[in-house]
Amino acid sequence: MIILGLSMYPKEINVVKKDWRTVSVRFGLCYPSFYRVGMSCLAVHLLYEILNSRGDVACERIFLEPDSSLLSVESRQPLSKFDVLGFSLQYELDYVNLARMLLNSGIPPMASERGDGHPILIAGGPAVTANPEPIAPIVDAVVIGEVEPIIDDLISAFQCGGRERVLEELADIKGVYVPKFSKPVRRVWASSLDEAPHAISQVIPQVSADSPFSPIFGRAFLLEVTRGCRWGCRFCLEGYNYLPMRERSIEVIEGILSEGLRRTFTDKVVVIGSAAFDHSRFENLCELIVSSGLNISVPSMRASALTERLAALLVKGGQKTITFAPETGSDHLRRVVCKKLSTEEILDAAKIALNCGFKHVKLYFMIGLPGESLDDVESIVGLAKRIADLGFSARKSVRLTVSPFIPKAHTPFQWFGLESLDSLRSKVKLLRKLAARDPRIELRFMRIREAVIQAFLSTSGREAAPIIVRVAELGGSLAAWRRAEKELGVSIEEVALASKELDRPLPWDHIDVGVTRDFLLKRYCSAKDVADVR
Ligand code: SF4
Repeated sequence: MIILGLSMYPKEINVVKKDWRTVSVRFGLCYPSFYRVGMSCLAVHLLYEILNSRGDVACERIFLEPDSSLLSVESRQPLSKFDVLGFSLQYELDYVNLARMLLNSGIPPMASERGDGHPILIAGGPAVTANPEPIAPIVDAVVIGEVEPIIDDLISAFQCGGRERVLEELADIKGVYVPKFSKPVRRVWASSLDEAPHAISQVIPQVSADSPFSPIFGRAFLLEVTRGCRWGCRFCLEGYNYLPMRERSIEVIEGILSEGLRRTFTDKVVVIGSAAFDHSRFENLCELIVSSGLNISVPSMRASALTERLAALLVKGGQKTITFAPETGSDHLRRVVCKKLSTEEILDAAKIALNCGFKHVKLYFMIGLPGESLDDVESIVGLAKRIADLGFSARKSVRLTVSPFIPKAHTPFQWFGLESLDSLRSKVKLLRKLAARDPRIELRFMRIREAVIQAFLSTSGREAAPIIVRVAELGGSLAAWRRAEKELGVSIEEVALASKELDRPLPWDHIDVGVTRDFLLKRYCSAKDVADVR
């Protein structure tokens, strides 16, 4: 165990600090948000461990902190000193922060302005896997899919020396998109999770829960049990861009847990996987964790998968809130979006959760879904009230998070635009009014302006890059977006709201994530059929 204490960052265990003179690749692992957010991301832990396990690579982490110091955690080096900068991009809104990190480090944000003296920039993550085009003029390469199967090839390419040569080598690796060459790319993925590496020596900050450096889940071991999701909800990026669904065997998980907990000294396990509840032995898995005296956190449950035994295990493991994602209050609209879940199943699950001792329910909803009526919107609060009536009667015990539907590339709903802002605002108002006098219900909304920006970034092409850079130059705030729009004469709202014509090419057509356009189109058309035959 190595404990490191630096002036700004807290003491950590499992941190790795290497002598740069002994390695051939200095890799800056950049997370375009705060330390506490980045350290809650399993991809950061995984890359850090894999890269540092190689004798010829030194990997150090860099976060975007409010003070903008932009020095690596390990040896306080600026971004410009690294050979390679790898950006983990979880959300579209991170793109501006990526550009801010470059600008604040004196690195030209456009790839065309960088030369041999600058680091190579490579990015990866869910948003850029689906549509890398908005940042294509900014980065040098993008990993389309999952990095584990190609990590050694990437390092070999970085070792070639000379920017042009490195880019040519990168372009030959399966799943790597080099925007400069614009060649079609197929997604790469780990065929077996049992054979894929898992972060064991996760870096754990030695801080209390109220520290600004405490990860979102606290001092916990992040355990990935599944990847991808088989349910195919028509709006969901995860449901189409990470197929097939894969799971780790319980035997492999046991090994990861016993070694991981030994090395991290944690007593809490966060179960990771967008469809973790679909693991064929999910109850056994939770039993394994809880019976070892550990706390457990399952960030989201499919309502139909919650059994009494499972709920009891989660409560025993210290989980206080159960989270479901009904998406909408009405069965009809759930059919339109292909969320195969009924209101009765949600109520049954809430009943089980209540009987087993949960005191709070968290529910994720969307508004502005294709085919949504005002009745559908009202049914959101209707469902929340029915859940509260089961016995979740304390103040704010039913917590709703409501976000506008945002179209995502490579999903059946990629052709839809964001709903008009007036309509979204009136739906927000309606929900507030309906829930106003019920103290049991807490309502939280994603800001509509943020949804506009996200929709713009998720469905744009390369023309978005100068706007991203200008917004970054102006500080990245919502006001910066308005100013950049004015200066550059563009309306991001227009782009975000526009639905896409079915016979027109899309900016991400050259990215093959493994589902065909025809398949998505069929699912788009069947959604329209369901919506129309109401
Ligand atoms: S919304 Fe959830 S259940 Fe549906 S496809 Fe996405 S991850 Fe799977």
